[in-house]
Amino acid sequence: MTSADRDDLVQALPSKRSNYKPTICKLPQLFGAAVSLPGRCVPPEARTGSHDNYAYVVIDDKTKDAMIVDPANPPEVLPVLKELIDSGKINFKGIINTHHHRDHAGGNAETLKQYPHTPIIGGKDCDQVTTTPKHNETFKIGEGINVRAIHTPCHTQDSICYFLEDGEEKVVFTGDTLFIAGCGRFFEGTAEEMHEALNNRLGKLPEDTRVYPGHEYTKSNIKFGKSVLDTPAVRDLVQFCEENEETQGKFTIGDELKHNVFMRIEDPEIQKATGETDPLKVMQKLRDMKNNFRG
Ligand SMILES: [Zn+2]
Repeated sequence: MTSADRDDLVQALPSKRSNYKPTICKLPQLFGAAVSLPGRCVPPEARTGSHDNYAYVVIDDKTKDAMIVDPANPPEVLPVLKELIDSGKINFKGIINTHHHRDHAGGNAETLKQYPHTPIIGGKDCDQVTTTPKHNETFKIGEGINVRAIHTPCHTQDSICYFLEDGEEKVVFTGDTLFIAGCGRFFEGTAEEMHEALNNRLGKLPEDTRVYPGHEYTKSNIKFGKSVLDTPAVRDLVQFCEENEETQGKFTIGDELKHNVFMRIEDPEIQKATGETDPLKVMQKLRDMKNNFRG
């Protein structure tokens, strides 16, 4: 890929919507058990690896153009990426980063060594980033996949989530902003920013949008969740975690609105558990309680 190609990709950002045909396979930092949109790619070579954070590959069925999300662990990711490229299953078009932390953007330099001039789309502090999309800016992967960047500053100021559409199919990569039944720590931001990110931005996505977070933290998240909100939705997720190791892509924004306590800060039961009623104070108190939770 030349740097001109790189510019083309970047300039292709706002483009016309058409029929979206994304394929999404999980690449846990390791490329784990593959997941996909219904009826689409589940590569047999996928396997579960050794870390709790996830990388993903997104493939446009028609063109095989593909981008990888947060490939932070090159020893595990690069061999699988190479195999996908060498076997002609994908045309590798770039990296998408959710934020600058090492366990998300830390594989960029190593990937660039193998694949020089790879475009890197991500927050401004991500290693070797080439393009930082504006809030709500869109770009495409191949011909079919439309991606919208959603700025969600708080965990880091450069946190960006990516909402992908395939006609009826919708998914969102949420990095360390939204986890299944939880949210990231407020390292560089405030309760107000997390409230905006979770409840005014991600929480307003279509309810059937499937959530692909940056880490597998669901089991401990819902343990905390149950300590402040004991509802059927919460109990269902506790049960799911007892039976399943991996939860990415299994739950939607609609599910999160029910079982994620950080997205229910106006729920009287949660107000009671936190002793606060102001939404921002509830948000901060929940985060503090979670930080100190030893369930
Ligand atoms: Zn992080």
